Amino acid sequence: MKIQNNLTLSSSVQYLPGVGPKKAELLKKYLNIQTLEELLYFFPYKYIDKTRFYTIKEIYQQEAHVLLIGKIIDYQEIKSEKSERLIGRLLDKNYDIIELIWFNNYEWVQKKFPPGSLVVVSGKPTYFYLTMNFVHPEIELYDIFIKNYIPCLEPHYSLPEKLKNNNINSKFFRKIISYIFENLKTIDDPLPSYIIERNNLLPLYDALKLIHFPENLEQLKEAKKRLKFEELFYSQIPVIKAKIERESNNNGIVFLRNKDRIVKIVYQNLGFKLTNAQIRALREIRQDLESGKQMNRLLQGDVGCGKTVVALFALLMAVDNGYQSCLMVPTEILAKQHYNNITNLCKGTNVRIALLTGSTREKEKREILFFLKEGLIDILIGTHALIEEKVEFSNLGLIVIDEQQRFGVAQRAKLWKKSNNNPHVLVMTATPIPRTLAMTLYGDLDLSIIDEMPPGKPKIITQHYPHSKRKQLFDFVKSKIKEGDQVFVVFPLIYESEVLDCIDIKNGIQLYQQYFPPEEYKILTIHGDLPTSEKDEVMLKFLNKEAHILMSTTVIEVGIDIPNATIIIIENAERFGLSQLHQLRGRVGRGKKTSYCFLVTPNNLSPESLKRIEVITSTTNGFVVAQKDLELRGPGDIAGLQQSGFLFNFKIAELSSDENFINLAKNEAIDFLRNYSLTDFPLLYNKIKPYIESFENWGKIG
Ligand code: ADP
Ligand code: MG
Repeated sequence: MKIQNNLTLSSSVQYLPGVGPKKAELLKKYLNIQTLEELLYFFPYKYIDKTRFYTIKEIYQQEAHVLLIGKIIDYQEIKSEKSERLIGRLLDKNYDIIELIWFNNYEWVQKKFPPGSLVVVSGKPTYFYLTMNFVHPEIELYDIFIKNYIPCLEPHYSLPEKLKNNNINSKFFRKIISYIFENLKTIDDPLPSYIIERNNLLPLYDALKLIHFPENLEQLKEAKKRLKFEELFYSQIPVIKAKIERESNNNGIVFLRNKDRIVKIVYQNLGFKLTNAQIRALREIRQDLESGKQMNRLLQGDVGCGKTVVALFALLMAVDNGYQSCLMVPTEILAKQHYNNITNLCKGTNVRIALLTGSTREKEKREILFFLKEGLIDILIGTHALIEEKVEFSNLGLIVIDEQQRFGVAQRAKLWKKSNNNPHVLVMTATPIPRTLAMTLYGDLDLSIIDEMPPGKPKIITQHYPHSKRKQLFDFVKSKIKEGDQVFVVFPLIYESEVLDCIDIKNGIQLYQQYFPPEEYKILTIHGDLPTSEKDEVMLKFLNKEAHILMSTTVIEVGIDIPNATIIIIENAERFGLSQLHQLRGRVGRGKKTSYCFLVTPNNLSPESLKRIEVITSTTNGFVVAQKDLELRGPGDIAGLQQSGFLFNFKIAELSSDENFINLAKNEAIDFLRNYSLTDFPLLYNKIKPYIESFENWGKIG
């Protein structure tokens, strides 16, 4: 086959030696790799440290993959009903011993490496109780290993089985990538050279080469620095650009505080004092509304911290200034609850409030739409129904969106279009987002945080119960039901193909009925597939105390207040993300009584799962939970944020730990946009284009 020598980044991988059409197709299908550039940007997920040999003492508490030289002492086979395993003991030159473990199909090991063999083992030490071991290590006879030994950090690529079965493995990647670097001698660097120089970054060519083939950790670090920086820089440009544009735009509606009239009346109606955090958030909102610039603010705070009141005062500021405002929430039932609360609080004022949801009757709806257009409604509360074509405001001045993560971009954009003004925008979320994440994800939003709970909130006790202690748990739950309390039980959404260790809602009902017989206990169920109206019906029944127990999948995550429910049992809690568990826990503790969150899991949990359960049982602070979630599982798993688009496709930047790089990239992006135009940097523009295309511009009006 003729090999193409004039390689460029946009060359197809198909023409690399050893690839061909079939493998090229597979690379495209499974990894979305078609060009050399895409291949080079497919980074190793780990490196095996083959720069030197370690001793057992040195690898203690070391996280990296390492090489060990030692002699096999002996083997022991352990067979049980569940598994078979082989444990080999390896002795190093200091007479320290480590265990090597293989599960099933390990006959070859003893044959190839009989006791007495001098071997080289590579792997990552794991800890089982107090002993350290290597599970399924790579192993080779020392004599053979040393012949081919080149000290390096050996790159390994995360590949689906389908590819490995077609001989597309890490070795294959190493081969074709090193071919590229032998034949491609330069790469044009899209980053402006002044940025590279003043931040001491590697040129792109060097960075890409060293990310795949670092000789030592120092080089790897430098390569990562450059690639993390560029990724963050590219992604920050559209965010910062939107913010600069919004801030330079002086056509925001001005709400004046000396017009406060209704605000003052409602404040009297409140019956409680605002917390300091609520006052601070209101002050920040107030400053925006007075500034002459369009507000684009995210109000963040744990479930129950009192965001609604803050939102209400913002809505009333609009009313006092003669503007209409609206509050959009994700569920019908929540809309009703807000409508009732707000109507109550506005007693004694002449504020005209309307509720518009999917189930509003036709006639009433026509009236609402008419009044709205005529400017005879001040505050419109509702669900998605608010963004239907027919809904027209006369002078919309403020939009508040509750639980914003529940709405898609398209839906938000529609609401924006409902105004000829530049309405202020306040989005609220109970999913606390760690600072680093907020900085990138919501870079163009200003952030207010309510980090304080209203006084008099009941305590929520969180406990972990393995299956084996279920009876004990249920006895306690029964005693609480006797006192008149109600109970949520939540199951993860389970599909049949998944592991057997999980209880789904169907089996769960049977299990619960054994302990809670139907003659004595009424159980309601609710799951995601039910139509909204039925879901709401069930929730209302539960609110009216028509059942003791409500069993559900996670649909109750964002739900109405059921103050009488003091217990939430989360089945297979190990299957939920931390933030999701935290969110669910927020369903209780809404009344006056001490409440309980019980996390039920299988008896045996992996150390990672245990760690996560421990996070939840040890703190009720949503920000701590979110930070841990980010550290343990990465940003894609934070509840509700999955749909937030491009910022989760970072290839190399780590939002949990790269705060410094984020700051650096952000500052450079600000500086760049102040001084240059993207159009003068075509290469850079090409890199940034995909980010611009997928950027959700929150403040943008249609
Ligand atoms: P969330 O932030 O989850 O939306 P809510 O706004 O629903 O929280 O408030 C939760 C409950 O706390 C409501 O019943 C509300 O009336 C009450 N609340 C809010 N602020 C205060 C406060 N400063 N003092 C006492 N109770 C408050
Ligand atoms: Mg709320």
